[in-house]
Amino acid sequence: MRIGMPHMGNLYIPFKALFKRLNIDFIIPPVNNQRTLSLGVRYSPEGMCIPFKLTLGNLIEAAELGADTLLMPAGSGICRLGYYAKTQEHILHDLGHNVEIVCVGVSQRKLFGLLEMIKRLSNNAPWSKIISAFRFGLAKLTAMDSIERAAQKVRPVELVKGTANNIFDKAIRAIDQADDYNTLKRGQIDYINQLNQVTKEGRAQPLVVGIVGEFYVLLEPFSNLDMEKELGKLGVEVRRTTFVSEWTKFSLFLNPLGMSEKDRIHRAALPYLKRDIGGDGWESVGEKVLHAKEYDGLIHLAPFTCMPEIVAQNIMPSTKENIPVLTVLCDEQLAKPGMLTRLEAFVDLLEHRRQAKSNNKGEIV
Ligand code: SF4
Repeated sequence: MRIGMPHMGNLYIPFKALFKRLNIDFIIPPVNNQRTLSLGVRYSPEGMCIPFKLTLGNLIEAAELGADTLLMPAGSGICRLGYYAKTQEHILHDLGHNVEIVCVGVSQRKLFGLLEMIKRLSNNAPWSKIISAFRFGLAKLTAMDSIERAAQKVRPVELVKGTANNIFDKAIRAIDQADDYNTLKRGQIDYINQLNQVTKEGRAQPLVVGIVGEFYVLLEPFSNLDMEKELGKLGVEVRRTTFVSEWTKFSLFLNPLGMSEKDRIHRAALPYLKRDIGGDGWESVGEKVLHAKEYDGLIHLAPFTCMPEIVAQNIMPSTKENIPVLTVLCDEQLAKPGMLTRLEAFVDLLEHRRQAKSNNKGEIV
């Protein structure tokens, strides 16, 4: 059995560590690139969202490299994500790839469902070995996210633009290569220290922009054209609450115990939206309300044709919490020059608004 799976940011690294410790043959398709997108666009039904297209492209590329068992997220929520694995399997069969898609659905059986799936993939490895490999994968995931948080803070204030990104890229490579907890921990501390020691600009009061929206486009830089790095170059500190390590902690461990990270966000959204509308639409509205006082502005990332985010986009202007929101629709038509122009205009607006506030002249929106 040769396993393949789609990309979402650097998520392949913890999976690689997990599978390596269980001697599972893991095929990593090329990171998202123009060919991946072209394949996804060419073979997707019309109207599909970019997560479907890019993950389909990844699965085709994994199958081309010899993967015969493909992992694909699934869910029992309102979003059409629940149908993607089956649809993609049909497309792959039509293209002549003799593959099976295994759904990674954690909605029902949470941690146990996931561990049972890993046990099947590992040809019945002992539980002790599975749990140990799983813990190591989680440790890598947590280390990557902690370094990414540190990089988000440094990007807008670094004196030499690009320094934080270089350190971050090296850190990711080091985490990928770490084979034991000590090396991993040492690498994590070392790279966070390096980020903290980056020479900063004198005036370091960056604009703060929250970034909210659909899970996949938030976490896959190729789908949002490296939005966070571009904002960093413009001197903007990005705040994002969505990280895979957080999602894992709650979905697999704390939600089954009755603790939900989203209760506060849902409560904040209630005056405007009373129920889950699938995907991350409810959370997008709630985050705007909840963080309006902390952020200078909000960027809302929404895949084109994603119904939950379309609903959220239309509710956002009507909330009384008044911060500027820039909605960016992500699909294959999104191009870098256009996106940069919009980001620059948005950042200009936020700077004027902050200036006006500090001059006590009221708000310009
Ligand atoms: S939430 Fe939206 S973008 Fe994400 S999978 Fe569902 S429909 Fe597609």
